Parts: sequence; structure tokens; C-alpha cells
Amino acid sequence: MNYYWLSVDDDPNVNWVIFRANPHRTLRERYRYLACSACGRVNELDAIRSGIDSDVRIRSKFDYFTSDDGFKCVNNRGRDILERCGAKGLEFVSLPGGKHFVVLAQHRVEVRRRPLGKREEQVLDLDAIARDPNLIASARKAVLIESDACGMEFHGKCDACSRYVESLYWPKLRFMALPEDTSLVVAPDISFEKTWSSETRLLASEDIVRALQRAGLRGLEPLVAE
Ligand SMILES: [Zn+2]
Repeated sequence: MNYYWLSVDDDPNVNWVIFRANPHRTLRERYRYLACSACGRVNELDAIRSGIDSDVRIRSKFDYFTSDDGFKCVNNRGRDILERCGAKGLEFVSLPGGKHFVVLAQHRVEVRRRPLGKREEQVLDLDAIARDPNLIASARKAVLIESDACGMEFHGKCDACSRYVESLYWPKLRFMALPEDTSLVVAPDISFEKTWSSETRLLASEDIVRALQRAGLRGLEPLVAE
């Protein structure tokens, strides 16, 4: 059975769930107690499960899309299609307004990591630039990059919470123990870090993906998992 990442089409709408939509992408006050004192990151799942501010508004031209803070979201039609197509193991967290949900996978599959090596690289210091945009040409910092046999690269580990500033690429299928039930949609137990938050990535069997495509799930851009 082939597997696919449930990736999304580009959506021009700006949607934030746990951050405020301002140029400094500020974490909403209610989640500040969850933030790492060193890097400022929060565990997104803990945050979303602790509640969502009532003024959060989501809008998309798609049934299935990603918020700017990395959550996979659906509208009512998208949820209905996922359920009708037999995609199992999904949890739908209601967003204010009653029209959208954050989609979470209940089953996390282990990604077996096998470190290949480490190297140091100079990168833009985005935090320094956020504090002072004049530094855009000059602010650099050294980050430690770990490459891994699972197919990914992990950049800049936080000493306090052990999360990375960024992780690149996709884990290979043979490094994951997939469930026998091919109707289960799962998420790897690894964090896909993007500059300020991590992104939810969902993995589904070809049967489920074909059913979702036949049902016309708008916004789905499946990416074959290798
Ligand atoms: Zn940290």
C-alpha cells in the first residue's frame, strides 16, 4: 500500500490560531505560561487543547488547509468528507464561529532516528532582525545542524526544551512503524519545526487519499511518501 502526506494547496488567506496576526507573530496571552523560557516555543498540542480565544476567526477558499501557525484545518464540508471517506483516528477541535476545526491525528507513529552527523552553519538571526530590522544585512548566528538517516535535518536545538528551531524534509516511510489498519490517518511523533511553531503533518494510505479526491476535498495536494 502506498502512503501519502496530506499536504495542502497554497491559500492566500492569513489564518492564525494561537498567535496574533501582527508583524511580530505574538503568542496569544493565554498560552504564555506554556512557552519555553529560552526559545519561546510552546507545545502546540497542549496549547490547542487548553482552549482557543473566542476572537479567533478562520477563513479559506478550501475545505482543507494549514493555518499560518501550522495547524491542519477543515471546514464543515471537509470534516464531513473525511468522516464519510472512512478516514479514522482523527480528532476535530472546534474553532470559534462554528465553521472550522483543527484536525489532529490521535495516533502518533514513531520515527526511528539514526544520527548521521553534525555540522555548524551561519544562518540569518531572525530573532535579532525581528527586534531591529536594520540588522537584516548583518545579523547572523551559528547553528548546529544534525542530519539523520530518517531523511531529515534538524537545526539549532534549544538547550532548555530540546526543540529545534527548524527541521527540514520528510521522514522516510521505512523509518516509521505504520499501523496495520490502513484506514487510520496518523502523524509522525517528530516535530516539523518552522521558524516560530511546528506544523502538523498527516499521513494516509492511498485508499483514503483516492476516496478524498473522489469526494472533491478542496485544498488537498497529496504528496507521495517515500
Ligand atoms: Zn526552548
